[in-house]
Amino acid sequence: MFTPRGLGNPPAVRRDHERDQRRSAPVDRGPHRFPPGLFDAVLLDRDGTLVEDVPYNGDPEKVRPVPGAREALDRLRAAGLRLAVVTNQSGLARGMFTADQLRRVNARVEELLGPFDTWQVCPHGERDGCACRKPAPGLVRAAARALGTSPTRCVMVGDIGADMDAAAAAGAAGIMVPTPATRPAEVASAPTVVDDLPAAVARILDRIGLVAAPASASRRGTVLVVRSDAAGDLLVTGPGIRAVAAGADRVVLLCGPRGRAAADLLPGIDEIIEWPLPWIDGHPAPVDPDDIHRLTDRLTTADADEAVIFTSFHQSPLPLALLLRMAGVPRISAISDDYPGSLLDIRHRVPTGVPEPERALSLAAAAGFTLPDDDEPALRLRADRLPAAPAGPGEPGYVVLHPGSSVQTRACPPELAIRIVRVLHGAGYRVVVTGGPDERELTARVAAAGGLDLGGRTGLGELAAIIARAGALVVGNTGPAHLAAALRVPVVSLFAPTVPYGQWGPYRVPTVRLGDAGAACRDTRATRCPVPGHPCLSAVEPGRVLSALRLLGVPADAPAGAVFAGPPRGPAVTATGGVAR
Ligand SMILES: [Zn+2]
Repeated sequence: MFTPRGLGNPPAVRRDHERDQRRSAPVDRGPHRFPPGLFDAVLLDRDGTLVEDVPYNGDPEKVRPVPGAREALDRLRAAGLRLAVVTNQSGLARGMFTADQLRRVNARVEELLGPFDTWQVCPHGERDGCACRKPAPGLVRAAARALGTSPTRCVMVGDIGADMDAAAAAGAAGIMVPTPATRPAEVASAPTVVDDLPAAVARILDRIGLVAAPASASRRGTVLVVRSDAAGDLLVTGPGIRAVAAGADRVVLLCGPRGRAAADLLPGIDEIIEWPLPWIDGHPAPVDPDDIHRLTDRLTTADADEAVIFTSFHQSPLPLALLLRMAGVPRISAISDDYPGSLLDIRHRVPTGVPEPERALSLAAAAGFTLPDDDEPALRLRADRLPAAPAGPGEPGYVVLHPGSSVQTRACPPELAIRIVRVLHGAGYRVVVTGGPDERELTARVAAAGGLDLGGRTGLGELAAIIARAGALVVGNTGPAHLAAALRVPVVSLFAPTVPYGQWGPYRVPTVRLGDAGAACRDTRATRCPVPGHPCLSAVEPGRVLSALRLLGVPADAPAGAVFAGPPRGPAVTATGGVAR
């Protein structure tokens, strides 16, 4: 009955399974209207998360909820969230308990903890190769489907790495509640870690509350929004800008030169002012009083009714707030831990560790702007602004490897990139290597191992067009990862832990995280790796990228070992996005 059939759960098992689940889930609450906001559903691991882990338990009498579980789950139910149990039960395949015993144990869990809206159980063994056993994303996807939502609108709570990995591979959020048995590397790698189940529930409700509509909604007029750093920063601020656009008559964006190309791709912006700000720029020019005067004049002509200044946590909104006051902007909102005096009307505070897109949404909400119900709080691009993809990669379904980054610690080490290309190429993947104009030497070296070199041939728009047709993107912690998130293209994230993954990892997109999250560079914000050899990433086995692609369901589609047919044809594309003639 539980014979695996390669990837994809055998339909017969799935059907039996759902019948079992209906029997164990007595409550049908009928059609459900989800509350607007971040999440529709919370998926919970069973053993070690909801109830104490009794290995291969077939005895209802041994079911012991973790402390505070019932009250915590009732808080989620009261908030309108649907609940699922998502659990591996390989004891069934191993004959450690019967299907009937499993049903009785699950019924006891519901008796003690209240009803769950769906139960998703993997009955297979570790070696069965099924698509449902966590860390595969099958159960998470099935739970979302059963609840009438999508994985990106779900958050998974679990006690081990497989729970977090399954959630991430499906595009769901993850919160880990480790037990003493959880491996330290799995704790280090989790996007969010809290002490216990009630704390996980509090975190979920806090995140929902942070971006929720304020009491005094509905603002209008011209709003100046600001995000002054790099392309990736603009992309993760996109949902916050869309929230402002939903409530404003007109949106003017002030951005820096490094973010301009991304700004051009974002929805909701009517006008762009591009200006480097010496208190934000990573390589700032000296402050020039004439330049500051000119900027202040330019801001005055924008005639904004209010301003929302988006920043990263290490940036100050206050110098710009002063200029905006001088430009006559009557209402200014920003996140500021520093005392703002009379520079801010809305001084917002956000706890650390909140994902950047939610941090931006929470400032927008504090200023009175929220996304409309039909706008998923994910990253998005303007489809009408995407240029045609450069010729060369051929049919969609290739894998893009983007090895570089403007910040060394966040890039894929070149030697690793070469080995990844070799392994993927050997396994039959078509690999496209991308990089900026100053990375041509790097991309040529990397692509020589068996990929197509598009180094220097793509501006941000063309890169987006290339990624949009990819099966997956393999990339460090850099802008293109957020392009892929905005395009719903799965990401294999080679993420150096110099900054928190839960804050800067690819948002709401199927992702596999690789690299040593507990390495010595963790949370150092270092731009050059402080540890010789950059071990957090360079120790990644290229075969892990192959496994990651399989977990994400990205097939190889070229005959093994086949090379791309010749160099790319068609006109070369310049770095600024124009077509060279
Ligand atoms: Zn399974």
